[in-house]
Amino acid sequence: MDYKQAKERIEELKEIIRENNEAYYVFDSPKITDFEYDELYRELKRLEEEFPELKTQDSPTQKVGGNIVQGFKEHTHKYRLYSLDNSNNYDDLRKWYERVKKEYPNENDLDLVVELKIDGLSCALSYKDGELIIGATRGNGIIGENITQNIKEIKTIPQKLTKPVNLEVRGEVYMPVTSFERLNEENIEKGLKEFANPRNAAAGSLRQLDSKITAQRDLHFFAYTAISDDKNLFKTHYEGMKLLEELGFETNPNYVLVKGINPVIEKCEYWADERFNLNYATDGMVIKINDLAKQNELGYTSRAPKWATAFKFPPEEVWTKLEGIELSVGKTGAVTPIANLTPIQLAGTTVKRASLHNFDEIKRLGINIGNEVLIKKAAEIIPKVIRKREYEDFGVYSAPDKCPECQTPLIKPEGEVALYCPNTLYCPAQIKGRIEYWASKEAMDIDGIGESIVEKLYNKGLIKDFADLYKLTIDDFMTIDLIKEKSADNLYNAIQASKNPSMTKFLTALSIKFIGKETADIIANEFPTLESIINATYEDLIKIDGIGEKASQSIIDYFKDENNKIILNKLQEYGVNPQGSAFEKTSNTLEGKTFVITGTLSMPRNVFEEKIKKAGGKVSGSVSKKTSYVLAGENPGSKFDKATALGVIILTERDFNLLFEDNN
Ligand code: AMP
Ligand code: ZN
Repeated sequence: MDYKQAKERIEELKEIIRENNEAYYVFDSPKITDFEYDELYRELKRLEEEFPELKTQDSPTQKVGGNIVQGFKEHTHKYRLYSLDNSNNYDDLRKWYERVKKEYPNENDLDLVVELKIDGLSCALSYKDGELIIGATRGNGIIGENITQNIKEIKTIPQKLTKPVNLEVRGEVYMPVTSFERLNEENIEKGLKEFANPRNAAAGSLRQLDSKITAQRDLHFFAYTAISDDKNLFKTHYEGMKLLEELGFETNPNYVLVKGINPVIEKCEYWADERFNLNYATDGMVIKINDLAKQNELGYTSRAPKWATAFKFPPEEVWTKLEGIELSVGKTGAVTPIANLTPIQLAGTTVKRASLHNFDEIKRLGINIGNEVLIKKAAEIIPKVIRKREYEDFGVYSAPDKCPECQTPLIKPEGEVALYCPNTLYCPAQIKGRIEYWASKEAMDIDGIGESIVEKLYNKGLIKDFADLYKLTIDDFMTIDLIKEKSADNLYNAIQASKNPSMTKFLTALSIKFIGKETADIIANEFPTLESIINATYEDLIKIDGIGEKASQSIIDYFKDENNKIILNKLQEYGVNPQGSAFEKTSNTLEGKTFVITGTLSMPRNVFEEKIKKAGGKVSGSVSKKTSYVLAGENPGSKFDKATALGVIILTERDFNLLFEDNN
């Protein structure tokens, strides 16, 4: 690129970036993805490095984005708020460390703190004698908006600290993902605009001129930096974090103190996947030099500290083309549309398919084959479609009226969004789906029985339902192409070995509508034998915490059905008998208490489950208001956040063990 071209491109980039800064910071409504923004930003930076004479003071690379919304008072920050330099690869991360390490040639590996980069809105809070006096947004880093009234509406920000200190606290205001989704649902109902992501929802909720609106939004705050003029209050970043916790702040629990760059990279790799299990958005990791004296020595560039850097995760969202819509018929007959996409890299993997949930969702997205769509990595394995290009109109894909597998006209039960093939008994897709599900990991966990074997056994007429699996002989398996005696033996043995499942597995494996593994577990806890479940009335079921109307009715309908009775009788005939409740109660210590377990504990989870159940307690898979305790290990998941939000008591493993000692 020559000088003239560079000059033009730089002007162009500056304008695009400025425009997007405004969309992002002032209107909380971005037009491009973060990744696209970063690419443009990096291109500008590269060009300015190549042609330094084209670098001007007003370039977005020279300042931190963000302007003042009219209506807020300006607040001049006592200490400037910097941005963070970032990289998206481990080589650059190592280079950053080497640059810093060069300044300390006589030391061993430096102490670093690695923490999650929370994708919210950064705020600066000033405390005087332990009282909150000002809360402000970052703004351009020097001047922000005074939003003290709104800050006071956030419950996780203490207005009075546990000690009368003078302190500035920095942190991120964020909205939990579940609350963001709920807010968007409400907004859709009210005909209001949806927020693009949790960060925009947090920013839009916080920068409200009417703090009553802020009060209605579920905002939280993770403190990540303490700044004090008193150099003796804390000497390292880590100590600062501990002090913040002592003073009453919530910090993100996933920060760790490490030595050197290798463990940093391990943490980045770990969180690149694991972040999807958190109930808040993160867009990277932040790595900071722990020692504050060193931080001072290293200092700042015009926009970022030299003593810290950010690692950005691979993009979570990319644009690609919707090439087709595939219809899949599930084990309960629900017909689900799946997007077939032009293959594309997303968060480190090649993606060809994305979930479209149901036909209402397709209508809402207004999409059809041919549209460019934005897809996003989700907690599930298969990513989802977020939206289409606004300017494109290919019409809307219309829902099918017949089952793609058996041509039966589809139905839409009242109060449900899904379309169903009502041909439960004979639709081959449903039959095969139920057999496959029976053998799957989540259900009976029979090794080797997957989609392709089920297909072949079914096509040969060897099985018509999952009970038939148990009458298969080794010779039956050997009639299938490419299966030799050894594998036939293994398949036969795996099936025979599954004859005594736990009640939970058995109930899950039946493919009863609305009864997944977690619901099955709750029911199995109440009704330890098959007889007791079959004899349960609707009233018995609905009484159980965690079992709703739909699930109760579905259980009743299932066991009343003649065809299901035939299958259950066949199972019994072939010797398939669920065990009674696996755990005999030995005390009443935890009677009436419901536990949820999250994170990594020192022993496998079922050890704890067993202990709880033996003491008369219950274990549930999800947190609700009725949860008594959450037992949290290391790196807890979204259950932890939900528990915090609901005010459920959280126990460490040690606390948990104390529950038992007390009663001995
Ligand atoms: P950037 O906006 O990409 O320049 O990154 C800097 C921003 O990252 C800061 O202004 C904070 O809002 C945000 N951030 C999120 N989590 C952290 C953290 N743990 N430490 C420092 N900054 C963080
Ligand atoms: Zn069908």
